[in-house]
Parts: sequence; structure tokens; C-alpha cells
Amino acid sequence: MKNFKKVKEDFVCEKCGLVVSGDGYTDHCPKCLWGKHVDKDIPGDRQSDCRALMEAIETEYQKGGFRIHYKCQGCDHEFWVREGKEDDREKLIELSVIIRNDVGENKKTNFAQKTGKKTSKERGRKDSSRDFR
Ligand SMILES: [Zn+2]
Ligand SMILES: [Zn+2]
Repeated sequence: MKNFKKVKEDFVCEKCGLVVSGDGYTDHCPKCLWGKHVDKDIPGDRQSDCRALMEAIETEYQKGGFRIHYKCQGCDHEFWVREGKEDDREKLIELSVIIRNDVGENKKTNFAQKTGKKTSKERGRKDSSRDFR
């Protein structure tokens, strides 16, 4: 009988050449964050025959952790995964759209304060991204 889903495997990152030692859940390179399209329907199934590189196009900070948005270079398949334990923090932050938005909104807010206009609500959600620094 085969053991399923959780596959412990080492791999060499095809983007930056880093040797990654897998812990059974590792599905992307912790250094450049690129992954490989190996899973088809569920993470870990390794059923995809695409095998193209997947680019991390953005990240999102949510409930105490990052999620990474991948887009496959081969078939345009997109999906989100959770960050890995070893993932490069700076890369994750660099790709975070929420922080980018946050900075943009602050600028807008300052501008609005000067001109005396009121800013829109719905800022509460984004406050969670503040505990980064
Ligand atoms: Zn890499
Ligand atoms: Zn693909």
C-alpha cells in the first residue's frame, strides 16, 4: 500500500538553485519563493503533469501568517498556499499587497486631512497589517 499526500522530499529550486530540504509540506523555495506546479487539485497530491515553475506574485498577511499567491508560468493556474516556516521574511513582505495599499492609504489620509475632507471608512480590516515592524 502506498503512503499518500505527505511526501517528504528534497528538491533543487529551478529558479535560484537552492537545495531545499522538504519537511513533507514544503512546496516552494524559501529563498526566492518560487514553486513548481506539481499538485493538481489539493496541496500534496503531486498529480499535476504541468511541472512548470510557479511564480509568487503577491502575498497577504492574514490571521498571524502569510499566504502566498502563485501563478503558474506554464498553464496560468493560480492558487494560494500558506507560507513555509523557512520562508524569507523580507520577500514575503516585499510581495505583500496589503502593506502597499496601507502605505497608499496613509498618504491619501494625510492629503485628505489637509484639505479637510473626510476619508472613507472600511480601514479597520487593514490595521492588522501594522504589527509587522
Ligand atoms: Zn529559489
Ligand atoms: Zn501549470
